[in-house]
Amino acid sequence: MKKQFGYGCEFCRGIVRGKRVDREAFKHKTGFVILEQVVIGVCDHCGSRYYTAKTLKHVHAIASGKAKTTRTQRVPVAQAV
Ligand SMILES: [Zn+2]
Repeated sequence: MKKQFGYGCEFCRGIVRGKRVDREAFKHKTGFVILEQVVIGVCDHCGSRYYTAKTLKHVHAIASGKAKTTRTQRVPVAQAV
């Protein structure tokens, strides 16, 4: 995996490892952006997720309509019962 991971977790003593995931939801001001086949960092001890600046920039570009998306998917929203 790429060299951009492998650093220490900021929450525990674990190591952040690069991992390719099928899909990851990113929260932003007005909702969510889902990226597929994205490489993220995951702490091997506590499971905290880390994102690269490049990934976050991409999410921001999609959220602000500056980058193309593959498709838009409706997400069900409900109040807790
Ligand atoms: Zn950790």
